Amino acid sequence: MSTARALYPRLLRLGDRPAIVGHRCRSCGRVAFPPDPYACEQCGADVSELDEIELAAEGRIHAVATVHRHHRPEPPTPFTVATIVLDDGVSLKGVLKGQTGATVGSRVRGVTVPAGEDDDGVGLVDLRFEVVGPDGGGKD
Ligand SMILES: [Zn+2]
Repeated sequence: MSTARALYPRLLRLGDRPAIVGHRCRSCGRVAFPPDPYACEQCGADVSELDEIELAAEGRIHAVATVHRHHRPEPPTPFTVATIVLDDGVSLKGVLKGQTGATVGSRVRGVTVPAGEDDDGVGLVDLRFEVVGPDGGGKD
């Protein structure tokens, strides 16, 4: 059993599989990531009408690019970023784990990777995505 903590605990839950924290609007049903801080962007419902939900970190690549120059040391270059449409319908940008040759339509799943330690020496993890299936086809 891991004692690691999420680098961004407001956005990532750790469990058997990592889950992304979003919200669902009780008024209009909109599912969003990241969670809207003040009100629903679709219907304007107050933040008190937004329920926090866990989104499965699984989906398909909508767009993909390899980064060769970056202003920070992490992640080391080259790395691949992708716009991912989660099965729950929201899209987000994520970093792929390793050089996977991912293409538009590739099926991906979230995995955790080490991301240093906090001030108490507790290991931190961040979310990456790995390709788990070929492009096209699938559940669509
Ligand atoms: Zn709404």
